Amino acid sequence: MPAFFIYAYTAMDCAPLLPPDRTLIADGTFQFHCHPEVSCFRTCCCNVDMLLFPYDVVLLKNHLKMHSSEFLRTHTRLCAGSHPFFPGLQLTMREDGQRSCPFLTESGCGVYANRPSACRTYPLERGVEHPGRGQALRVHYFMTHHPYCQGHFENRRYSIRQWERDQMLDECNRYNDQWAEMDALFASNPWAGEGTAGPYQQLAFMVCYNIDDFRSYAEKHDLLARYRLTKDERRRIMKDDGALLRFGFDWLTTVLGGGGKLAGR
Ligand code: SF4
Ligand code: SF4
Repeated sequence: MPAFFIYAYTAMDCAPLLPPDRTLIADGTFQFHCHPEVSCFRTCCCNVDMLLFPYDVVLLKNHLKMHSSEFLRTHTRLCAGSHPFFPGLQLTMREDGQRSCPFLTESGCGVYANRPSACRTYPLERGVEHPGRGQALRVHYFMTHHPYCQGHFENRRYSIRQWERDQMLDECNRYNDQWAEMDALFASNPWAGEGTAGPYQQLAFMVCYNIDDFRSYAEKHDLLARYRLTKDERRRIMKDDGALLRFGFDWLTTVLGGGGKLAGR
């Protein structure tokens, strides 16, 4: 079951907790190879609880040429987040008796170039430890051990860095690390008093998961004009979903009192 952990928000002893059924990668290398000839091909794309992160939604909805709100309606459902103060988002699996991924085809992943970060990272899982405000995130990788996965017995060895490059994880991880910072802020219950799904929480949900609606919101309220941004920055933010997501994270951090990242005019 691919997953992505943000498993520590404050540094008590700074020792990472190892999730159950995972092992640490001792020397930084691991044996693995996945290809269409393995007997288990496509098995890992069924019976999965697939968490989606904000940049996963951007990649998938653009691959499918869908508006983000249509993507959310068609392909996702809310689930428990990593803490009680903000929901998570899960891919809705097919009701075909094996809960297969809606993007799975006979020949493999139908959204391969834009598959979610958990799929890229598998068989590893990436944990991001947030030691405390102002301190750099700490990243840990774990190895999963699903009995059906034959890739562990294939004769190829990767270092973690090679795997990140091979799976083109760098860009996803940059966004996921920003999301980890954001989620750490949400974990502090910054909307205390407004209750579940109050106005700020709805705004935050829109920024994180419904980027096309956030673009309309930013246009309607002339949001970018309130901050010191160059013309080029404004143009890029309004054109590019990734840049808009980054701006949205900065904006939420500023609005929710997590330390101003945007300078007002
Ligand atoms: S080797 Fe592992 S990752 Fe590859 S298809 Fe089989 S179960 Fe999935
Ligand atoms: S997105 Fe692709 S790789 Fe990920 S579970 Fe679905 S079919 Fe498999």
